[in-house]
Amino acid sequence: MEGDIYEVDDWVDTVATLPIKRFYPSAVAAATGLPIEKVFNRLLFLVEGNILRILYEIRCPDYDCLRTIKVVEDNDFESISGLCPLHGEFQLSADMIFPVFEIEPSFKKRSIAKKKTENQRSLRMSLVY
Ligand SMILES: [Zn+2]
Repeated sequence: MEGDIYEVDDWVDTVATLPIKRFYPSAVAAATGLPIEKVFNRLLFLVEGNILRILYEIRCPDYDCLRTIKVVEDNDFESISGLCPLHGEFQLSADMIFPVFEIEPSFKKRSIAKKKTENQRSLRMSLVY
């Protein structure tokens, strides 16, 4: 359904109030039941809207390792050299790059403050008979 994509926004709104710093698109897809491509596109849209930031995790290509070597903000991967403390230097390729999203700090701050106010308001409301 067309409106289902807003489920992504709702999920992000909720997560913004929680002590979660970063998340993978797969987590949103699992939570909303939406296809990963749709979720990813919506998350990119939220990046455009300054609600999210996109970062890229570079992982060691060794299958027994797969540790995150570094997290970069820039997608200029040409200039990045991969270096795993265990497996040494490696050439970067697309399957070693994992996009991860971060809530924009100012949005997170606002969301937490907003949640607090709403909680206080509902508390006051519950005192009105
Ligand atoms: Zn490694």
